[in-house]
Amino acid sequence: MGVSFDKMDGSLWLDFDVQPTASPTPDADRAAKLENPGFGRVFTDHMAVVRYDQTNGWHAARVEARANFPLHTATAVLHYAQEIFEGLKAYKREDGGVNLFRPDANAKRFRDSADRMAMAPLPEAVFIEAVEQVVKIDRNWIPGGEGSLYLRPFMIASEVFLGVKPSAEYIFAVIASPVGSYFKGGPAPVSIWVSETYTRAAIGGTGGVKCGGNYAASLRAQAEAIERGCDQVVFLDAIERRYVEELGGMNVFFVFEDGSLSTPPLGTILPGITRDSIIALAREAGRKVREEAYTIDQWRADAASGKLKEAFACGTAAVISPIGKVCSNHGDFVINGGQAGEVAMGLRKQLVDIQYGRAADTHGWIKKVF
Ligand SMILES: *Cc1c(COP(=O)(O)O)cnc(C)c1O
Repeated sequence: MGVSFDKMDGSLWLDFDVQPTASPTPDADRAAKLENPGFGRVFTDHMAVVRYDQTNGWHAARVEARANFPLHTATAVLHYAQEIFEGLKAYKREDGGVNLFRPDANAKRFRDSADRMAMAPLPEAVFIEAVEQVVKIDRNWIPGGEGSLYLRPFMIASEVFLGVKPSAEYIFAVIASPVGSYFKGGPAPVSIWVSETYTRAAIGGTGGVKCGGNYAASLRAQAEAIERGCDQVVFLDAIERRYVEELGGMNVFFVFEDGSLSTPPLGTILPGITRDSIIALAREAGRKVREEAYTIDQWRADAASGKLKEAFACGTAAVISPIGKVCSNHGDFVINGGQAGEVAMGLRKQLVDIQYGRAADTHGWIKKVF
């Protein structure tokens, strides 16, 4: 397919060669899979793939039947984890149309991730087009109600070479997975384990970008949380080991008795798009929102004094999860009686209503695919 340059901004533009699968999932099988899809185990019929090499740049943009990648055993990503990804959702509106939520923000973050991991930057327009193409071709895989189609754009280093250097070749792909509502019957408060053994990211590291290696490094800490009877791990900063950072897959917010919110500042944490959206919505509602370092000791003291009213975690997958209990080697404490707080639930409803098109999109966050 042709490669051309958009005259307006000079960005590379690719036409996707769309080849629908010859063997689509039968309607009855798809309906059965959509009944209770869970998270990340059911996949749609198609994928988008774009390739990069130094001679052709980004090329061979295709939408085709989802298939395995045949990879040489010396493919760079298998050895040195040069890999990045994104996560966003397509939501079915009541009028039957389909919304994407802030795909431009995911495209931008993907470029930032590529830059940090010394990977070829993918033009943001190509990222968004690939996502839209998959939503279009697999439109009938989007669950109704509170379900959504989770989209997973990712990029791997595909050069066959065991030397340690940035790969000269990359594969970018988008796959899609229908997901049910993360929580049946409203979000249940989660318990979190404060890891004093492991940290997630240091200044100058990769904590601020979405690379698979961050997750690999967090799994042992998450396992520790499960061993301690908690749902999730929360990480502290790597230097002083006292500032709350994030959950390793979700950002955190604190809600105080004066109605203000605080959230850890950007740097070593992942700049969540949900985090950014919540800051905007809360400020518009007249709340003060501080992006400010907050220690685990202060959190415990504020929970005990009643100054802290709520805490919650946020991210694309679960939107907002209230934090009901914090456990650590220094004792446990409960937040808001272990119940979901009003502020968390109000923000959650506001955000979800925008995503599903039930509330006006006053920020230009919604991109209608249909
Ligand atoms: C993706 C991610 C988040 C949440 O980001 P959203 O854009 O809100 O989905 C938080 N922390 C980490 C480590 C992540 O990878």
